[in-house]
Amino acid sequence: MTEPRRTRRLPDGTRSGVPGRVDAGPGLLEPADPAVFPGSEARRQVDGGVSSARWRALLAEGTPILADGAMGTMLFLSGLQFGDPPEVWNLTQPDVVRRIHRGYLEAGSRILLTNTFGGNRLRLGLHRLEERVAELNQTAAILLRSEIEAAGGQALVAGDIGPSGAIMAPLGTLDYPEAVDVFAEQAAALVAGGADLIWIETMSDLTEIKAAIEGVRQVAPGIALITTMTFDTRGRTMMGVSPEQAVEALAAWGSDAIGGNCGNGPDEILPVISRMRAVAPDAILVAKSNAGMPELVDMRAVYRASPETMAGAATEMRAAGAQIVGACCGSTPDHLKAMHKALIDSTRTDS
Ligand SMILES: [Zn+2]
Repeated sequence: MTEPRRTRRLPDGTRSGVPGRVDAGPGLLEPADPAVFPGSEARRQVDGGVSSARWRALLAEGTPILADGAMGTMLFLSGLQFGDPPEVWNLTQPDVVRRIHRGYLEAGSRILLTNTFGGNRLRLGLHRLEERVAELNQTAAILLRSEIEAAGGQALVAGDIGPSGAIMAPLGTLDYPEAVDVFAEQAAALVAGGADLIWIETMSDLTEIKAAIEGVRQVAPGIALITTMTFDTRGRTMMGVSPEQAVEALAAWGSDAIGGNCGNGPDEILPVISRMRAVAPDAILVAKSNAGMPELVDMRAVYRASPETMAGAATEMRAAGAQIVGACCGSTPDHLKAMHKALIDSTRTDS
C-alpha cells in the first residue's frame, strides 16, 4: 500500500475547506460530499434527531459504556459448526441467539451487536442465502430488541455490519457502487428491524468502509454510526491503514464513534486508541479487542485471556481514551462481567 502523508486536522463530522492529502486510495480523502456523508448537524436535522436520540441519551450519562463480547465464539460453544453461516441461527435457533444476548445484558453491556456480522448478500451468497438478507437481518434486530426490552430496555441495538468478504476493485472485483448497494441492503433490513444504531466492524480497507457508510446513509441518514477497523498488521490494518488515517477519514465521513476491534488482543488495540486520541482529541473512541492473541489449535483459533486480564485491559483502554469498551473473539459474558466491574463499578463514587 502507498505510504500515507500527513493530513490536515479534520473537524468532527463535518468537512469544509481544503482537500485532505492522504494517498489512502483514489480520492479517498477528498472533501466528503455533505449530501452523501452528512455531518452531525445535518444528521440531527433529518428527523429532529429522533433516530439517534437513544444513542445521545446513553452518551449523556457521561460514564464509560460497556459494549458486548463475542457472538461467534458463543455460537460455536452452542454447537454452530465451523463454516456454517451464523446468521441462519437467527431463524433456526433464535433461543440460542437470545440467550447469548441475555448473557451480555446481564454482564452490564449497554450496546449489543446483532448476529449479522456476515449478513450481506455477498457472504450469504456463499451459502446460497443471498435472497434472505432482509429476513435474516431484520429478524436479528428484532431478537436483540426483544431481549433488551425483557431486561428493562437499558441497552441499545447495534445493527452489526461486517466486511463484504470480497476485495474492492481495482485490487479485487467488487466495484464501489455495488459495495454501497450491498451494504445499503443490509442496513435497510437492520433499520427495519429496529436498530438504534449501526456498527460497522472488522474492516481493513478504507474504501470498503466508506462504501458501507455511504450505504448506511442512503437508507438511514440520521442514524448513529459506530465504525471500527482491525489493526492486526504491525499497527495497521491488513490493507495498510494506520489508526491516524482511520480516525480522520471515519470522522470526516460522519461516524459518531470510531475505534478498533478484533485482532491480536488488548496489547495491540491499546496503542491504536492512544494514536487515535492523539490526532482526534474530541472523537468518541471504541476498543473491542479479542480475548488475547489467537493461537491455532486443531485449525481453530483459541483465545486465552482471562476475565481478569480483560478487566485490566478495559481499565487501560479507558485511560487511553476509549469511552466505549467491549470485547471480540474469544470473549464470553464472564469476561464482560469482569470488565464491567473494572470499568463501571469502580468509577461509581456512591457505591
Ligand atoms: Zn474478533
